[in-house]
Amino acid sequence: MAQSHKIHTGRVRIVELPVTEVHSHGSGDVGSIKTVIVELTTDTGITGWGEASPWPVFTGTAEGNANALSRYIIPATIGANPFDVEVLLEQAEKNVVHYPEAKAALETALLDIMGKALGIPIHDLLGGCHRDQVRLSFSLANPDFEEDIAKAERLHGDGVEIFKLKTGFKDHAFDLMRLQRLRDRFQDRLDLRIDFNQGMTAHEALPRLRDFESFRLSFIEQPVPRDNLEAMAHFTDVLTTPIMADESVFNSREAFIGAQMRIADIFSLKIMKSGGLRRALNVAAIARSAGIGVYGGCMFETGIAHAAGAHLMAALPELNLGCEFYMATYYLTEDILTEPFPVRNGYVHVPSGPGLGVDVDLARLEKHTVQTLQVH
Ligand SMILES: [Mg+2]
Repeated sequence: MAQSHKIHTGRVRIVELPVTEVHSHGSGDVGSIKTVIVELTTDTGITGWGEASPWPVFTGTAEGNANALSRYIIPATIGANPFDVEVLLEQAEKNVVHYPEAKAALETALLDIMGKALGIPIHDLLGGCHRDQVRLSFSLANPDFEEDIAKAERLHGDGVEIFKLKTGFKDHAFDLMRLQRLRDRFQDRLDLRIDFNQGMTAHEALPRLRDFESFRLSFIEQPVPRDNLEAMAHFTDVLTTPIMADESVFNSREAFIGAQMRIADIFSLKIMKSGGLRRALNVAAIARSAGIGVYGGCMFETGIAHAAGAHLMAALPELNLGCEFYMATYYLTEDILTEPFPVRNGYVHVPSGPGLGVDVDLARLEKHTVQTLQVH
């Protein structure tokens, strides 16, 4: 008979990590990463890792997620069987509303334990591996565009061919100038996209969006605030360039409404929005049923959440436009994994080891921890 496991202890850390440069967005600037790392240990000595990486202007705060985890979510899992992942997720959803990032962290840690106990990677717990590598997209968001051009040159030399320009944090002319410079410099050797992070009002958006049609973009992401579904649907209807919903679609319910209203041609999947990998697969299933594409999005994350996202990417039946798990490799000054998160030649490689398939560097984790909350 298989060995039984029980969750014995939990630890929640708020971690702050320096980044290589400030990134600007339609919703504000980011100058460091504050994230929450969860560590669950079983009575059989297996440790599972998870990450809740919120963004205050998008999903929530690190402090709120750390409290949700340490006071409401993890205490209810102590003594539980980690294989009861769906039962424990439902329980977490009943115990505390919102905090999808905290629930993603719980699920990731449970899946990491399950995978390690069985000796299989997380994507095998989700139905298997449709792909073992995914094209990487890097986000250009430096207010100093000359630095971004130099960075694009460097990364293109590394094999990165997809760039997402963060737009809407300065004026329209600045966005057009940057796209023109990139097209002049690289022609069609780059796959270009833009992301407004909700940065325009509906009345100003349409004439500006029409100006972008000539740049042959793969998509325009979240031009207006998340609740303006009617404007999103209108842009999807009248523009040739595909529209992607990010902030407008967190979970299955929002995906269902978004599909009914046809608010986008593509949904950005993020485990931090959906509340975990299994919930993200549900969002992807709704998208697929509606003929809407999916893309691998992320928040400001370490290699732990990237690894969880990579297993999700592997398990998706369809994935259309790559993923953006570039933070650990190209944005953090140093990550907290023992081995670098696997990005090679412009592709994210899906880890194949048991569980997440990555190991945490405890000394580096400790060095960047600003608060520890122990749960017995
Ligand atoms: Mg986005």
